[in-house]
Amino acid sequence: MKNFEYVEILTKEEVGDFIKQLNRKNNSSNSNNPSLESNKTALIKEYHAYENEIISTFKSQLKEYKKELKLWNNKTCVCGRKLKYIDGYKFWGCPDYQNEGKKHLTFKHNQQEYFDYRFKNIKVRLSAHWCTDIIKKLNLVGKIKAKELLLFYISLNLDDLRRKYGYKSTIKSISSYVIANKESKREELEITKFLKPFFDKTIHQLYIRFKEKESIEKIKIFDLIVSDENQVYLIEIKRHNIYIDEEQLELYYELLKHIMTEKGDKRVMKSLFIVNEFYESSYNFNNCIVFEDLKKLKSKPEILLEFDKKIYK
Ligand SMILES: [Zn+2]
Repeated sequence: MKNFEYVEILTKEEVGDFIKQLNRKNNSSNSNNPSLESNKTALIKEYHAYENEIISTFKSQLKEYKKELKLWNNKTCVCGRKLKYIDGYKFWGCPDYQNEGKKHLTFKHNQQEYFDYRFKNIKVRLSAHWCTDIIKKLNLVGKIKAKELLLFYISLNLDDLRRKYGYKSTIKSISSYVIANKESKREELEITKFLKPFFDKTIHQLYIRFKEKESIEKIKIFDLIVSDENQVYLIEIKRHNIYIDEEQLELYYELLKHIMTEKGDKRVMKSLFIVNEFYESSYNFNNCIVFEDLKKLKSKPEILLEFDKKIYK
């Protein structure tokens, strides 16, 4: 358990002030560079091309991984022959390995560990300088700065790709709250709207101020809380299952628990993840609900059953 000095819910006015302050910061770094507007179509097109490319690299990596994993699970060589375990050398080899007309493979006795490690490292990869890459590609070096381009994209409701794929924000000087707010709204609102009729109370974006011992005050935003007289569900919404941040939900869980304890609220509290896109994987490290599946449910008992099946904590 973390040791909190205090945990408070921000009032409506405080949230308003907080957002205003961040927007001011954000706007002061916005520019009116005419090159942005005049290249708008090309910039948008290149943005999507860039995103498609990093996704397709990721998917082919995953596919390659799955293909090899299947061979491992079936103890089969790429050539199609059954692998044999070579006891003295502790590895799996192909009986036909001398036939050089075909490709072969070997697996170590503890190959599974390698697979696990590799899987954890398969993700959508992109450079922190992705905006600069786009500027270069479009021959706009010197005309548009990376930061200007990022803000331009955000103003067009396009995501900061670094954030979208689980990295830190491209620019730290822009408050991540403003961006997070904009990015998440579409998905969060849709999920909130869906769940609302089934629960007594729905809170979307709850701002929490807290301080841990020997640390500075921080503000966090809970995506969604739905509750009825018996239970409270703390819900974190993510775009993809591979970006689930368990540490984050762990912290939010403790914060909400703290608030409820102080209020003498004895309802059962549970936390879970809802994701919008699910990348199939052979391992499922993350228990989460896929919104597409959730949407098909029509009654509260069905929804609660699904929640309890996929509960994080
Ligand atoms: Zn072989």
